[in-house]
Amino acid sequence: MKSYNELLEEEDRHLSDIAVKNSETVERMYPEEEHPYRLPLSRDRDRIVHSRSFKRLEYKTQVFINSEGDNYRTRLTHTLEVAGVSRTICRVMGLNSHLGEVIALAHDLGHTPFGHAGQDILSELMKDFGGFEHNKQSLRIVEELENRYSEFPGLNLSRMSLIGLMKHGGEYEKSDLSILREESGPGLESLITDCADEIAYNSHDIEDGIERNLIHISQLNSLAIWQRVVSDFRGEKDENSELYFRKLLRSLMNTMVSNLIESTEATLKKEGIRTRKDFSEAWKSGKRPVGFSLEMSDSISELKKFLSANLYNHPDVVVNSNRGKRIIEFLFGYLKNHSEKIPEKFLSRRESDGIYRVLSDYISGMTDRYAESKADEFGFKD
Ligand code: MG
Repeated sequence: MKSYNELLEEEDRHLSDIAVKNSETVERMYPEEEHPYRLPLSRDRDRIVHSRSFKRLEYKTQVFINSEGDNYRTRLTHTLEVAGVSRTICRVMGLNSHLGEVIALAHDLGHTPFGHAGQDILSELMKDFGGFEHNKQSLRIVEELENRYSEFPGLNLSRMSLIGLMKHGGEYEKSDLSILREESGPGLESLITDCADEIAYNSHDIEDGIERNLIHISQLNSLAIWQRVVSDFRGEKDENSELYFRKLLRSLMNTMVSNLIESTEATLKKEGIRTRKDFSEAWKSGKRPVGFSLEMSDSISELKKFLSANLYNHPDVVVNSNRGKRIIEFLFGYLKNHSEKIPEKFLSRRESDGIYRVLSDYISGMTDRYAESKADEFGFKD
């Protein structure tokens, strides 16, 4: 059996000088003894996967609500796809793929029910009470709200995981973590995972939109990025088949992934960023050396605009988004006046956090179906 130290050294041997080393991830807010044979990031990963918030991702909308079909992405399958993309990219770049995976698995824990519509209405309802934003909520969940250990609140993830998870460092209240993020920067793994998120949803939303018959394949021909992948396969026999479409989709994803790797590596080289220290310096001076080429960024913006116009704002999607918003608005109003209906584990934070934060924690943590059933129970009339 390998010792903990052997495992640690073995892992670090594969990493480039710019990666976050496993030995750097040992530090936690509440000091703990190391596990005999699981490295810190493996523990972080397992803690996230075993958490309640992670399990609930299965019943939270990505774009299509659960009842619309079993073959569409949910927050959970989206999350797993992001983890896969991030792991691949980190690995090929010599970065810490375990860290990329940890950040990916936790990145959407703070999402509300009913997709982005849920976040929009909750942040509107919370605007005079400290606001609501799902990235901040993901951090709040792993730092405070998950309740599984007698020794500490939250999951007590390693500092590097938390810093990586803080997407908008500057906007957070000044905590030790945000200062650390500002000063030394997150790992490159965190920036890669942000892009992996984008790659995953841009690809899978096309697939789900077509599967749900809200987008037609022919509409994609107007997009530069689609023309590019089509041109690689033009002349193949099965041009109209479903499998041909799947092949194009895989190619679309590969194109974005390869572009991200190549253009990030080129930027790192050009800027002379070779070590973690170089990256921290670059970060401090405002450089963000992870990203797609300019041409690819333009193509991705065009694709996003397309998805927004043709999918996210499609009447069939908007109907459900609006219903989701009404449910959340109803629950917020109802529970504010009937706080006895709020579970004790949330209500017990009323003194310290105020009733509005309690409402936002409880409601944002709900799955679509739980929110529906609670709204029903409290007399929601649509
Ligand atoms: Mg996401």
